[in-house]
Amino acid sequence: MVAVRRATVPLLLAGALLLTGCSDDAPAAPAPAPVVTRTVTPTPTTASPTSPPPPSPSSSAAVTTAPPAAGKVVVLDPGHNGGNGSHPAEINRPVPAGRGQTKPCNTTGTSTNAGYPEHAFTFDVAQRVGKALAAKGIRVVYTRQDDTGVGPCVDQRAAIGNEARADAVVSIHADGSDSAGANGFHVAYSSPPLNAAQGEPSTRLAQTLRDTMRTSGFSPANYIGANGLSARTDLAGLNLSTRPVALVECGNMRNAAEAARMTSAEGRQQFAAAITAAIEAYLAS
Ligand code: ZN
Repeated sequence: MVAVRRATVPLLLAGALLLTGCSDDAPAAPAPAPVVTRTVTPTPTTASPTSPPPPSPSSSAAVTTAPPAAGKVVVLDPGHNGGNGSHPAEINRPVPAGRGQTKPCNTTGTSTNAGYPEHAFTFDVAQRVGKALAAKGIRVVYTRQDDTGVGPCVDQRAAIGNEARADAVVSIHADGSDSAGANGFHVAYSSPPLNAAQGEPSTRLAQTLRDTMRTSGFSPANYIGANGLSARTDLAGLNLSTRPVALVECGNMRNAAEAARMTSAEGRQQFAAAITAAIEAYLAS
């Protein structure tokens, strides 16, 4: 969750603070995680050993067409991190958040009522999205490489996207609203934009995410934003980006039905498939 409210206390100790949402898109952390890049070459189509030979040796061989998005760079930013809760001093350290503001380096994120943490959800979904994109020839860069570290800080996460010259940056979160009946996803984008990338490109990325989430069967949030979109001035990861960027809050972890979906691998694959399709559609537009 990005936050409207933020929990900066270790989840297991948070008690009443668990009422807060995932708080903050800011990723956090002292030691900037090394950026790992993976490039996957699409598997060329080959005839099986038992297939008959091509019709005519003189005809030109089948041309393998690269996917439209091949060669593009996508930065995936799974919100929070598994070690944040046990390192309050590090993640509470103020860092630049854009628009003259500061924010804590990172936050713990939220969890389901049963204790399944947002950081585990976001990490798993990002991995699923990244694998799918890499299989299409897209270069994928993650802002964190595991779910046991601390941070990186929100400003560092933005820097990773900027330095990678990403064609698209997508932060992945889940919200934690205790408002009765609150459910649904929403996509945040920087507004008013602070640079050209935050203008039309980021708005289009956010709208494409919203549209694809909706056509994939997810309902827009009924408690925040409008029609699944939320214009924000306070999210560091968005404010500090010089690349097209959007942040998706996949749903409300405090809602029983959405919590069940997020807790299951099958459900996470559904979120990942929708986000993957959205990124591919954006890159092709
Ligand atoms: Zn979050």
